Amino acid sequence: MDQQPADSAYHRTLPIGERLSSRPLVDDRFSCFEEVTLKALEPMLVPEAPRAGEVDRSECGHCRPSEHTIWHDDLWQVRSGFTPFGLPFVGGIAPREHVLLDDAPLDLLATLGPLLQRVSNAVKAVPGVARTHLARWGDGSEHFHLWALARPAGMMQGRGAMLAFWDDVLPPLPDDLREQHLGIVAEALAAGGGTPFPGRD
Ligand SMILES: [Zn+2]
Repeated sequence: MDQQPADSAYHRTLPIGERLSSRPLVDDRFSCFEEVTLKALEPMLVPEAPRAGEVDRSECGHCRPSEHTIWHDDLWQVRSGFTPFGLPFVGGIAPREHVLLDDAPLDLLATLGPLLQRVSNAVKAVPGVARTHLARWGDGSEHFHLWALARPAGMMQGRGAMLAFWDDVLPPLPDDLREQHLGIVAEALAAGGGTPFPGRD
């Protein structure tokens, strides 16, 4: 792919190639780091490599049925357990249909607010969970999706963006406890409509 450095008024302000001070990451009041070494700021090249599902929608994982779907209804699906997690629950929320946030039908998006309330409450039904974090990045798959992460009760080091880092380093949930948590979230969601574990017999 023929890439060029991205150029904008913003990009022209950036110290590309420099290693920046990581002090703000340590000093942040939510920080879980005692010490961080940043990589040098890499050149920002465009066009970017296509995201999953962008070139060939038949390759889109969100569009294919999955054994990891813990709940779905006609419009939305929640998946979890496709990778190990160290938090009490980590799951992905996505429309059943391949849409982008940029141009998703408004009647679909109008149902997202109530769904986020349901997901938040379902995740908090897991024992030991204080709060449900919701995130939308959109850098991996083109298919619109959000993440739900369970912040353990009392884990002040897991506030804000720190929680995702902790998920990478905490010991993976034992299989039986993970299954139990998936079941609690799936059943809590299904109590408001839809089907728990549609991919299981
Ligand atoms: Zn898709």
